[in-house]
Formats: sequence, C-alpha cells, structure tokens
Amino acid sequence: MIKNVLKESEDSLKKAVLFLKNEKLVAIKTETVYGLACESSSKTAIQKVYGLKQRPLFNPLIIHVDSIDLAEKISIINNDSREIMKEFWPGPVTLILNRRKNNLVHDFAVSGLDTIAIRIPSSKFVLKLINKLNKPIAAPSANESGYISATDADHVVDSFGEKVDLIIDSGRTEHGVESTILDMTTNPYEIKRLGVIDYKTIRKKLGKKVKNLNFNYKKILRPNSPGQMMKHYAPKTPLKLNIDKPNSDDAFLDFGNKKVISHQPTLNLSESSNLKEAAFNLFYFLRKLDKCSKQRIVVAPIPNKGIGKTINERLKRAAL
Ligand code: AMP
Ligand code: MG
Repeated sequence: MIKNVLKESEDSLKKAVLFLKNEKLVAIKTETVYGLACESSSKTAIQKVYGLKQRPLFNPLIIHVDSIDLAEKISIINNDSREIMKEFWPGPVTLILNRRKNNLVHDFAVSGLDTIAIRIPSSKFVLKLINKLNKPIAAPSANESGYISATDADHVVDSFGEKVDLIIDSGRTEHGVESTILDMTTNPYEIKRLGVIDYKTIRKKLGKKVKNLNFNYKKILRPNSPGQMMKHYAPKTPLKLNIDKPNSDDAFLDFGNKKVISHQPTLNLSESSNLKEAAFNLFYFLRKLDKCSKQRIVVAPIPNKGIGKTINERLKRAAL
C-alpha cells in the first residue's frame, strides 16, 4: 500500500480535516463513487482539483454538505426542493439550485454560474469530515476527466497515485454509479443526469411534471447542462455495446445467465440479471477489463429499465 492511503479511523479523520483546511486534496468514498474532495472556498485547492483531473474549467463541481441548514447558506431552497431533500438526503440525489451569495463556495467551484449543485452524501465518515471542517466540500469523481469513475480506493491510486495528498480507503462504494442530478431552477424541473434514483421515483414524490433526460447524445449538439456532452466514463480500450458473441481478441462484459460462455476474459455484471448489482459492478469491471489490453471491450445488452437506464446512458457515452 502506498503511503498516502489510510483506512477510516479517528486519526485519518483528523488528518483529512487538517489537510482540507490546508488546501490539500483528499479522496473519499461516497455511496456513489469516490470523490476528489477540497474545501469549497479555497481557490487554490479547487484549481488543484481541476488540474489533477484535467477537467475543463466550465464543468462545475458538486458541493457536498452535512445538513439542509448548510445548504441554505449557499443556495435558495423552495418548498419542492425541501421536500426532495427531506425524502432523499442523505442520499444519491444532487439538486441544482439558485446560488446564494456567500464566502463558503468560491466562484471557481461552480464555474462562475448563478446556480449550484448540492447534495448530502450518506457516508458517515464524509459527514463527520464536513461537520468538523464546518464548511462544504467540493468533490467531483476521483478519476481523470473522461475516464471510468472510481468505485474503489485502488482506482484512485491507479488514476492519481501520490498526486492526491490523502486517500481514505473505505472499500467499494455501495451504488457504483453517480447521483441523479435534478435541476430545480427550471420549469418544469429537469433531470440533468440519470443516476441511482430513477425519474419515476422523483416525479412521484414531487407529484408534478419533471422533464427526463434525453440521452440520445449523437443527436445532441449542445449539452443541456455543463459537462454533460463529452465522451465520458470511457475506458482506453474501444467499447462496443449490445454484443452477445465476443470475438477471440475481445474482453467481454456480460449480463445475465442466459448462455454458457467460455470466453476469456469475461466478467458478468450480474448473473442473476439484477440491475442494482450490475450498477455496483459496472465501473469496477470496466476498469478490470481495460487492464486486459484487448482489441475491444464488448458489452452484452442491458435491460433499459430502472437503474438499467443509467447503466446504458453511461455505456453509450463511454462508447462515443
Ligand atoms: P462529477 O464530476 O461526476 O461530480 O460531475 C458533476 C456534474 O454536476 C457536472 O458534470 C455537471 O453536469 C453537474 N453540475 C454541477 N454543478 C452544476 C450546475 N451549477 N449546473 C448544472 N450542472 C451542474
Ligand atoms: Mg465524473
């Protein structure tokens, strides 16, 4: 294990707080993916995040808070937003809200926008971290911009090694894909990124129309949200979708147990055709297969329902 990786403990918590206060970067596990966290009022630290990820400056960061009270200091919360927060927070729903002028979040973290993306993650360690810091943290996914998201501490090590000041190894993330992003500043409200919580669940809670994301990226010339258009989540190996029979020089990402397959290498997202399990394994297995140095990674068809829609959206963008 390299020297900047620590397990969760009281000591590593103290160290993480100190590092963030000193404008350093700390990689942390959220329930969705690993985040590359910095203190959100520090221009220096935010610039380090963008630099390390090689993330375009126009792509804003998600701001993580530990309470609705803290969210209220940096954003304007209407009744519907409060309902969503009470239902889904802590949890994998990020809300885009109008920004409130404050000195807790630097303009750089939100790419100078008048809006801000906020959520309360459910990891106890991260909540304690924000609580002790007494400030929000900005945390994009802990991977090079455009590459497969990190769902395990080893992925962060692979992506950044000792260039991250501290990595807290909390094991694999629970969900394996990112939060759902819901824009509360538009009329009707709009899903800007498919995620763990699906559109129908949110619409039901709100009891009103919500515009879903149209993810036919080949047709979209302009992104409907910053950072949403580019090829993303992509392995270095070319990716091909909806393939049942791999060629001999392919790595195979399979789903379900309908056929007997002796192909090597094969990883099965879920032999029992469980889409939640498939989401949990998606980035983890893509990273594994990307290391096999094969001609292509080919992926079996994934049912397009529930979190399967999120999986297919990630795969389509990765295959662009
Ligand atoms: P990630 O790097 O996976 O954490 O991605 C964060 C995503 O949140 C960005 O790519 C944007 O699409 C979205 N986002 C963050 N802030 C805003 C904002 N103010 N308005 C619209 N989208 C945002
Ligand atoms: Mg990301």
